[in-house]
Parts: sequence; C-alpha cells; structure tokens
Amino acid sequence: MKPAPFVYHAPKTVEEAIAMLATVAPQDGRILAGGQSLVPAMALRLALPAHLVDINGVRSLERLGVENGELVIGACVRHAAFHRPVVDGPLGALLAQVARHIAHYPIRTRSTFCGSLANADPASEWCLVAATLNAQMVARSMRGSRTIAAAGYFQGPMTTALAADELLAEVRVPVISADTRFGFCEFSRRAGDFAIAMALATYRLRNGVIAEPRVGAGGVEGRPRRIAAAEAVLEGQRPGSEVFRAAADAVARSVEPLNDIRYPAAYRRDVVRAMTRRALESAAA
Ligand SMILES: Cc1cc2nc3c(=O)[nH]c(=O)nc-3n(C[C@H](O)[C@H](O)[C@H](O)COP(=O)(O)OP(=O)(O)OC[C@H]3O[C@@H](n4cnc5c(N)ncnc54)[C@H](O)[C@@H]3O)c2cc1C
Repeated sequence: MKPAPFVYHAPKTVEEAIAMLATVAPQDGRILAGGQSLVPAMALRLALPAHLVDINGVRSLERLGVENGELVIGACVRHAAFHRPVVDGPLGALLAQVARHIAHYPIRTRSTFCGSLANADPASEWCLVAATLNAQMVARSMRGSRTIAAAGYFQGPMTTALAADELLAEVRVPVISADTRFGFCEFSRRAGDFAIAMALATYRLRNGVIAEPRVGAGGVEGRPRRIAAAEAVLEGQRPGSEVFRAAADAVARSVEPLNDIRYPAAYRRDVVRAMTRRALESAAA
C-alpha cells in the first residue's frame, strides 16, 4: 500500500518549523524526523497526516555536546551517533551499549534519538534511558519553549506530554559522575526486535555501600519508569546477589505489565525480574 496524499514542507530553521507546525497541526500535521516509525505507519495507512514538516534540513537540530553538565541531544541526532561514546565516562559508554540493541544498523543511521522519545514506544531503549537518568525534554512551539521532566513526559503507550504543535527540539541528559556503575539488559526474541522487557540500573559506591541507585524498567508497562521500591532496597546495602535478587523482586512486584496474547503479564513480570537482576550484576562486574 502507498501512503495517502500529504503536503510536504521542508523548513530550514527551527522558527520556520514551529511556524509551519502551528499551521498544520490542527490537520494532523506531523514532524518527519528519521521516518523509521512514521513512514511505515503511513505506508500501512495507520497514520494519515495531511502535512509533513521535515526537520532534516534544520542544521541547528544536529547539535550534540555537553553543556552545563548535561548532554544536549538535538532533534536530528541519529541513533548511530551513539555507536561510539559521545561523552567521556560512564554516560558515553552506557549510550553506546544501549544503541546496539535498537533495531538494525541501517535503521539506526536514519532514526533519531528525539524521534524515539516523541514516538514513545513502551519498548524504546532511549525512552528507558531518558526515564532512568531523569532527562529533560525541551519543547518548542509558537507559544515559546518549555522543559518537561521525564517523570511527567511519558504518559502511556505512544503518548507523551508534547502538544500537537510542539517540536521536541532537544533532550538534555545529565552527565553521570565518573564513578557511576551501570548495567543494561534487555530480552527480545531476535536481535533488533523490540524488547519484551528491559532494565537499566546505575549506582555509586560510597564506603563500599550502594548510593544513589537508579533502577528503570522498560517494555514491561505502557511507559518506562524508575522503580522507587527497588531503589529503596538497594540504598545503603553492599552490592551482592542477595540484595540484587531482592531489588529485582521489588521491580516484579511494582510493575503492572502489559498483557497480550504473545506475552502475557505474568511472563513479562518474570522477564523484567531477570533483566533487573542481570543489569545489577552487570553494574557490579
Ligand atoms: C524494523 C524496525 C525495528 C525497530 N526496532 C526498534 C527497537 O528495537 N527499539 C526502538 O526504540 N525503536 C525501534 N524502531 C523504531 C525506530 O527507532 C524509530 O525510528 C524511532 O522510534 C522513531 O524515530 P524517527 O526519527 O524515525 O521518527 P519518525 O518516524 O520520523 O517519527 C515518529 C513519530 O514521532 C514524531 N516526531 C519525530 N521527531 C519529533 C520531534 N523532534 N518533535 C516532535 N515530534 C516528533 C513524528 O511526527 C511521528 O509521529 C524500529 C524500527 C523499525 C523499522
């Protein structure tokens, strides 16, 4: 099937892009970024935007760098940019490890980090990273600019706090300290498939005990989120298999898993428990 007819717009600046979006958003006008989710949906006529605002010609959205202790990721930065560490220390290594799990190489050369966050697939790896590391989303529209914290940004499957006329111009991820340990683990049926469940864990060691633990779960619920109950289990404890198992159990108890014919809720709960334990073990290794 071919996409339904649409009008194509190619702005050269952010100001032009948000002005066009303001005009066309009421007629289901959409931003076109990497097109790796939107174009297949259009080809299947699951999405019928009357207008596309293609941001690929907006050079200022290619920004990628550290500013005031945050990694700034512009709307046109592709997944492939993270194949090699984009920042020294654990954040660069974490992003490089996670990037390898997203789809396949050709898709990663087109898809954008911000596009993943705008699309908000519950099984998106970047959404899990943003939720676990408390990223800030910077939205621009003709009404101005606003910053949305990850905790309020992800609202449900394919649903975010972005309004139809807002461009997700950049995402700001706090740079994590050099002594932060991290572990990421995901399970999917085949390499490149969306995750059935995944977990990201980070913590520091202070006098041999866990400090500032962060545990995020993705794929298992309608949106990724930090699991406070698991973080409370870890805080102040010596790292080890017993406490990791207890934290993984806390995740399994806390989540309300998606339930579908292929992956029933009980199965997803078991998988996220295993992914959390492995992520914590990997952080400790
Ligand atoms: C075979 C295949 C396997 C895949 N596997 C995975 C996977 O394992 N993990 C994963 O996370 N993803 C996976 N993806 C999805 C891929 O990463 C998507 O490209 C990504 O989720 C969306 O990024 P994009 O830049 O292509 O966005 P687009 O497809 O261009 O846009 C997606 C949606 O977001 C909106 N949008 C995009 N950018 C912005 C912006 N800056 N501001 C406001 N709205 C915006 C668009 O209007 C559209 O509604 C897969 C895709 C394919 C085709």
